[in-house]
Amino acid sequence: MSASGKRFYITTSIPYVNARPHIGHALEFVQTDAFARFHRLMGDDTRFLTGTDENSLTNVLAAEREGISTSELVERNAATFIGLTEILNISNDDFIRTAVEERHVEGARKLWQACADNGDIYKKHYSGLYCVRCEQFYTEDELDNGLCPEHHIPPELVEEENYFFRLSRYGDKLLELIDSGELRIIPETRRNEVRSFVARGLEDFSLSRSRTRARGWGVEVPGDPDQVMYVWFDALANYITALNYGLGGDLYKHYWIDNPERVHVIGKGILRFHAVYWPGMLLSAGQPLPTTIFVHGYLTIDGEKMSKSLGNVVDPADLVERYGSEAVRYWMLREVPPTGDADYTDEKLERRYNADLANDLGNLLNRTVSMIQRYRGGAIPTPSGKGESLGAEELSAQIQTFMAEDYDPQSALSAIFDSVVRANRYVEETAPWVLSKAERAGDEDARGKLDTALYSLAETLRIVATALRPFLPETSGRIAEQLGVSGSERPWIDELGWGQIEPGTQVAKPQPIFPKLEASVAES
Ligand SMILES: [Zn+2]
Repeated sequence: MSASGKRFYITTSIPYVNARPHIGHALEFVQTDAFARFHRLMGDDTRFLTGTDENSLTNVLAAEREGISTSELVERNAATFIGLTEILNISNDDFIRTAVEERHVEGARKLWQACADNGDIYKKHYSGLYCVRCEQFYTEDELDNGLCPEHHIPPELVEEENYFFRLSRYGDKLLELIDSGELRIIPETRRNEVRSFVARGLEDFSLSRSRTRARGWGVEVPGDPDQVMYVWFDALANYITALNYGLGGDLYKHYWIDNPERVHVIGKGILRFHAVYWPGMLLSAGQPLPTTIFVHGYLTIDGEKMSKSLGNVVDPADLVERYGSEAVRYWMLREVPPTGDADYTDEKLERRYNADLANDLGNLLNRTVSMIQRYRGGAIPTPSGKGESLGAEELSAQIQTFMAEDYDPQSALSAIFDSVVRANRYVEETAPWVLSKAERAGDEDARGKLDTALYSLAETLRIVATALRPFLPETSGRIAEQLGVSGSERPWIDELGWGQIEPGTQVAKPQPIFPKLEASVAES
């Protein structure tokens, strides 16, 4: 158990696996990973879940187009998502696959039964306009010129007898939970969007489809082999089925019931499912709700919405191969507003990489270690007093506020890099090369000043490296190694305190951690 005794459960949404992951999936992985790593470092008992949504009709159709079985398709594409978590250095504790795992099927059926026992599931004849890519019914006025507003494809008219969920019962309760902040939706604009949607009055929604329309793919409705569950019902359930809600055991109690922080990270396109349908289902089943829903925006590519037809889908695996996972993580956490949209171009990533990682951070490390080698034989000197903290002393409090309260990695990284910029300016101001010359001419005052400068730079860098751990875990380790300080056993938050580097510590030979990138081929 953790030192602080707090618990923290965080999930990504589970993507359809009808295609390979794109850069938007990478963004969600990276953001969620930063939050999970931060809480783990804080000593919180943390669990991080991701997985794949495999029971969608979209998968059946994609497999049909390719002439392979649906199982083969989801197997193959799930592997690419798992592969992406690995190359992006994502620290998930669990990965759930909804088509193949007993814990999921049993849990989804248990949740259904609990809603049915509460009188919230009924059968009804229905016809409506359905977007198969969204797996969602739309009303006429929600369509965009008769097309799905997300996918710009015509919805199909579906007519059949289905089970319905009595969502209309839970509108008042949901408003109360949103207003009290018991269900926190970040950012505020998304909270308001959900609030006004709920306040307009909630309609019951279709909860199943015929086995025929589902091509026999999906989770069977308890007690009715002719119907399979609406894919969103089983998909949303993954957040608790992964904790063995259906099979018993301690995980569900530990991370869902007896845990004050249950966080879903999602994209803005699926907000209604997570902030309205899912809480409604849980209220019906008598289970606790998520406490926080964090909603990120979308990435466009060169100013255009990413789409297969435009041929501008960016494969995150390709970016990692070209720039390394740390550079991709950095761009996503530093340049993309955490809850807003952003536009990706290679040039933007390269500019960030060169300016912040290669120049500001990489040079600071390189010149600091080089000067300690040159002027002090590689041993970090003793400062007069406590040295100059160059903003590093405040980082601990700043990062805690930005990450634990605001869910804002961008501001956390800004604060860290402010310290880096200050440290580089400090090098120019103190001019250690001038001090060294004076010292060699016998100036004792210059000797003390040089000691203080070198110590201050090394200690600031040590704190910067420590502070970077939730965001850039590899970079953090490589900086610490060059400073000769890796392998501390202290709690992370204590390590962020000033004045811990031992004078006399031997630094390593300087090695560039981010070699400067030449202008990309696309630009030249
Ligand atoms: Zn759609």
